[in-house]
Amino acid sequence: MARVLSVINQKGGVGKTTTVVNTAAYVARMGRHVLVVDLDPQGNATTGFGIEWKSLPGGLYECLLEESVPHEHICTTEIERLHVIPATADLAGATVDLVHVDNREFRLQKVLKDMGDNYDYIFIDNPPSLGLLTVNGLVASSELIIPVQCEYYALEGIGSLLETVSLVRENLKSDIHILGALLTMYDDRNRLARAVFEELYRYFPNKIFRTVIPRNTKLAEAPSYGKPVMLYDRWSRGARAYKRLAREIIQTEGGQ
Ligand code: ATP
Ligand code: MG
Repeated sequence: MARVLSVINQKGGVGKTTTVVNTAAYVARMGRHVLVVDLDPQGNATTGFGIEWKSLPGGLYECLLEESVPHEHICTTEIERLHVIPATADLAGATVDLVHVDNREFRLQKVLKDMGDNYDYIFIDNPPSLGLLTVNGLVASSELIIPVQCEYYALEGIGSLLETVSLVRENLKSDIHILGALLTMYDDRNRLARAVFEELYRYFPNKIFRTVIPRNTKLAEAPSYGKPVMLYDRWSRGARAYKRLAREIIQTEGGQ
């Protein structure tokens, strides 16, 4: 069965998509079969892999409504063993369209149930909200990665995120746990970084990834070429950091 990991934080622009795209790329490079699910209507993970969603017959939206994954909605990428269920423009309407369907919180879980045998890892890129799509992301996942940007107010909103996770755990999905909080866009010239780390430790004692993702322009440039940083500048600090993170995640295979 695949490990299903959600990268989640309702705060916008903290590095969720960058983390999904680049970690998934390295985990696949390390020999695992990986599926990336783009659960964000912005579709940044989809374009981050160079997938032109406009030319596609459909994507995750259709899968959620049909509760299945027609073969044509799985995209291959430049990276061996790495596939993507893309977000298309329709996904923005899913929150409304799913309101009246049965088991609306369990749609993604159902979609991914049959995929678990084909992949070792499924990474879900969640949107910056705690709405129905994110609840679907949580219910479908067994492990969570919470990126936290090194900035003032970094931890704002973490309380409501953890509350949502608890509610989902109590009512919809009992076996969900936090794999780790991840410091992103770390700048060692910035004195805040230390303070953010210390505050983060109060929320997630012993659950912070050893790997810290530095602020690195190569990570910001790579998506405009439709490539993970591994294929854009693999010696950059950003690339090396995500490679370490992938290794750290793989080391937790078989339980923590
Ligand atoms: P959203 O909430 O909108 O989905 P997000 O949490 O997915 O955003 P990203 O899209 O990954 O965040 O990152 C936000 C912006 O910051 C992007 O332009 C991205 O290229 C850039 N970025 C992400 N991580 C880094 C980094 N470590 N160094 C420099 N730039 C970064
Ligand atoms: Mg994103």
